[in-house]
Amino acid sequence: MEAASHAHDHVELLATVAHELRNPLAAIQAAARILGNHEHDARGREEARAAIDRQVMRIARLSDDLLDAGYLSSGRPQLRMELIDLRELINAAAAACRPQLEAGHFATVLLLPPHPVMIEADPIRLGQVITNLLDNAAKFSEPYGMIVVGLDDNSGVVSLRVVDHGIGIPAEMLPRIFDPFVQVDSVRLRSNSGIGIGLHVVKRIVELHRGTVKAFSAGPDMGSTFTVRLPRHT
Ligand code: ADP
Repeated sequence: MEAASHAHDHVELLATVAHELRNPLAAIQAAARILGNHEHDARGREEARAAIDRQVMRIARLSDDLLDAGYLSSGRPQLRMELIDLRELINAAAAACRPQLEAGHFATVLLLPPHPVMIEADPIRLGQVITNLLDNAAKFSEPYGMIVVGLDDNSGVVSLRVVDHGIGIPAEMLPRIFDPFVQVDSVRLRSNSGIGIGLHVVKRIVELHRGTVKAFSAGPDMGSTFTVRLPRHT
């Protein structure tokens, strides 16, 4: 019975992935036709090129998500721990997300302490946590919104918050939002929704760093706050 339900989950996952590939591939094909047709002017061709660029990024992200999910569910993944200033990691993550943030004309505010906030972490993996949260904040907010990244280091704990003023999360979904493949129904219908793996990856990585992550939202259209707590280096 359990094996049958796993098989069903796998088939569902494959169907989701196939579906997620279909839209970008169709868009790339349409753009390639425009580029191949010399009747289009320079502007039309530039738009087609930009569309291919965007869609390829989307497919690359999907494949990264799947690779991460596979890597993180394979026994105990190895972290390369270093002593790092979390402020630098936040700045680097914000720079990596700049294209999405600028595309949506978001005002991105980083509220960072004036002193170093040292933690022991794998900078690549923890960087991915911050970019995933920032990426979601942009993805699930209307353009021209404000996104705030806050960092506090009180007593032995470092706490990092990513706050948006976007579509929010219904209360009944909050306890399940970090489970694999879970998406809010209204989101699932969007064309750029992804496959619901990002937050699962976030939680796994944070827990590997002996930390916790929590989601809060006052409800639909009330924005969302994700808080990551990590032990401070002493
Ligand atoms: P994906 O972005 O691929 O859908 P995630 O695991 O990153 O997957 O997120 C799971 C779901 O959680 C999303 O589909 C969305 O419903 C909800 N969610 C995540 N972040 C936010 C956010 N900042 N605001 C509103 N909903 C969010």
